[in-house]
Amino acid sequence: MRYEGAIYRPPSEGRSLIIQLTVGCARNTCTFCSMYKDKNFRVRALDEVIQDLEMARDHYRNTKVRRIFLADGDALIVKTADLLLLLDKIKELFPEVERVSAYGAPADVLGKSVEELTRLRKAGLLMVYMGCESGDEEVLAQVKKGVSASELVEAGIRLKEAGIQTSVTFISGLGGSERLKEHALGCAEVISKMQPDYVGFLTLMLEEGTQLKAQIDSGEFKLLDVEEILTELELLIENIDSPGTVFRANHASNYVSLRGTLNEDRKLMLADIRAARENASYRPEYFRSL
Ligand code: SF4
Repeated sequence: MRYEGAIYRPPSEGRSLIIQLTVGCARNTCTFCSMYKDKNFRVRALDEVIQDLEMARDHYRNTKVRRIFLADGDALIVKTADLLLLLDKIKELFPEVERVSAYGAPADVLGKSVEELTRLRKAGLLMVYMGCESGDEEVLAQVKKGVSASELVEAGIRLKEAGIQTSVTFISGLGGSERLKEHALGCAEVISKMQPDYVGFLTLMLEEGTQLKAQIDSGEFKLLDVEEILTELELLIENIDSPGTVFRANHASNYVSLRGTLNEDRKLMLADIRAARENASYRPEYFRSL
């Protein structure tokens, strides 16, 4: 396998074989993100990617490969015909694979019809991770996400209709103090309309070299303190209506670790937040990371 630059994958893909289908992020505009700032976006030549699959098969000839993750940030930007060809090749070389997954930018999901997504699911693409970040139009515009809240909802619904499992992420604190309430309620609304399989709630962390870091340094944007983060989280959990969705805010960036299934665990999660507040038991700043 050959990898270009730093490779990112969701925590749940820690044991997956990673195959780099694209390099970088096609948009690269989000003010809080530094992941692919050093890469010029391109789709890798398909024959190169197939060679990587063959090299991986050779390397893992005595090991069963159960999961494959297609990196980098925009696998779904690739033409459907090429993705289908690749998924067929994966089946041929790794008949034991149980799941192929990828990051899917909302705009790229919307670039495919339900019928195309269904064909991809039937060919083995069973999970798409989609970064939503916020459900508030103003926050989405401020952080230059490049999509509206209604487009996020539409992308989530399209994946669901195609039978592809969806794991979506949002960022706590992204609206700062000024949009705390709108951000929490907007996220709750988008999640309730999408009804995804999994929701991950990270907490904003500052990364050097990002536009957001410069906005904080200049005083243009104010980071939330722990109390405000918990208020935002409470507001969010109180207002989501998405039965069956697995909710996780147990990432290393979160001050309080929460996990539950909506809506049945709502009260338990709210009680966990209250207990953390009463006992001031938060993850220390020096232990937080991305
Ligand atoms: S958050 Fe996602 S879409 Fe935005 S710049 Fe980073 S990788 Fe690209």
